[in-house]
Amino acid sequence: MVNDSFDNNTLKSDLLAMLQAEHPTMCRRWFDDIRVLGVTGGVILIQIMEPVQLKYLQRCCVQQFADAAQSVTGRLLGVRFVGDESVETQPSARLVSGDSITLGAAPEEDMLISPDYNFDSFVIGPGNRLAHAAATAVSSRPGQAYNPLFIHGGVGLGKTHLLQSICQTAMRLHGSMKIYYVSCNGFMTQFLDAVQAGEMSLFRNKFRVFDMLVIDDIHDLSKRDQTQEEFFHTFNTLFQSGKQIVLSSDAPPSEIPYLEERLISRFGCGLVASVDPPGFETRVAILTQKAKMRGVELSDDVASYVASQLDANIRQLEGAITKLQGVAMLDQVEITLALAKQVIGRQVVSEQVKNTSIQDILDCISGFYDIKLTDLLSKKRHKSVTVPRQVGMWLSRKYTRFSLEEIGGYFGGRDHTTVMHAIKSIDTKRGADGFFQREITTIESQLSDKAGSISK
Ligand code: ADP
Ligand code: MG
Repeated sequence: MVNDSFDNNTLKSDLLAMLQAEHPTMCRRWFDDIRVLGVTGGVILIQIMEPVQLKYLQRCCVQQFADAAQSVTGRLLGVRFVGDESVETQPSARLVSGDSITLGAAPEEDMLISPDYNFDSFVIGPGNRLAHAAATAVSSRPGQAYNPLFIHGGVGLGKTHLLQSICQTAMRLHGSMKIYYVSCNGFMTQFLDAVQAGEMSLFRNKFRVFDMLVIDDIHDLSKRDQTQEEFFHTFNTLFQSGKQIVLSSDAPPSEIPYLEERLISRFGCGLVASVDPPGFETRVAILTQKAKMRGVELSDDVASYVASQLDANIRQLEGAITKLQGVAMLDQVEITLALAKQVIGRQVVSEQVKNTSIQDILDCISGFYDIKLTDLLSKKRHKSVTVPRQVGMWLSRKYTRFSLEEIGGYFGGRDHTTVMHAIKSIDTKRGADGFFQREITTIESQLSDKAGSISK
């Protein structure tokens, strides 16, 4: 390999350090397993052996790695991720996920298996013990343990995590199996595309050759008569030939609205397992696990505090880690209990502010930026008013239940695209400008003080 004067190991550690500084929440501990193979033709070749990790890097991290490569080398370099070439040439274990299909799924439906979602990183607790046991059984004995496996539960309780763990483990254990993971919407989009293109037989053949079909969020079939009909046939074909089917849903089969009776009975004929909200102990364990995976130090008292404050679902816990990590990086401080109280405490309060009125927000903004209410609602386009106005729209979206149109109405009769644009540009500015972010945080805490004093 041509290697214009870079030492591969140094390059790797410099790259990882730069990424850790620039994109801390993107970094994972398994990034340590990458190998820098060398620089050739202006491109750094990076090898990663795990196919799921490889795919993730290729799909989500190329730009960040390229930027980091350019910063650490001072040269205009690209980055290419490669797998274990000797394995790639063998037609063996195949995981097919949304993208590799000819009947194109819309990009947003093009699901990616996350390397984060495996059984090792799944914390078992009383609420998910059965679902977890069934999932591992299905991944080791597809088509024989429980068929179909139907996992249901509320948002953010680990359904997708379990489904993707099944895929990853089955792929590892059963080299030649053809596994397909797709969201219900992805399935639906492909179906409708096929109908439109007059390629129904292609569509059918495609789905009916899999050994394991894993469909996430099957409740989205609700009201989709045509897709339900088609799915029913796909289901039967696979089921009758002993192929494994795994489904997740936000409700048990009988409670999915507008689902045909025959599908309800098919869905319920294997094992139906629920995932229930985690208790305190499980929340602490999940927090610790998630932090570890991201290379963040969380002391026991911080984990207990966060777990005691946030109990709606697990995404919320992850959000808390991201926030803590962000603040700790920005201010170059350790994550202490005091910091956690400051950061998470504010989040807890802010979630109680949902009843805030737009008038409260307008008052806050005009007070904070010292501008007149009439200017805020006027057609003036000077920067001194447009930014505060946009902040106001952003806050209204976050803290009230009004629609984009309604918010536009309050802010001087603007249309919903203006509001959408405002929200986007505030989000971008927050991401890019730590000072601005803190300004927003200050306004948010003033707003929560206001709401607090109103509700007293
Ligand atoms: P759902 O699909 O049920 O809405 P997800 O599977 O997307 O929820 O889970 C949301 C987040 O919570 C994911 O990051 C997932 O890794 C995490 N999570 C959920 N349950 C667990 C668990 N038992 N152990 C570790 N992480 C979990
Ligand atoms: Mg999900």
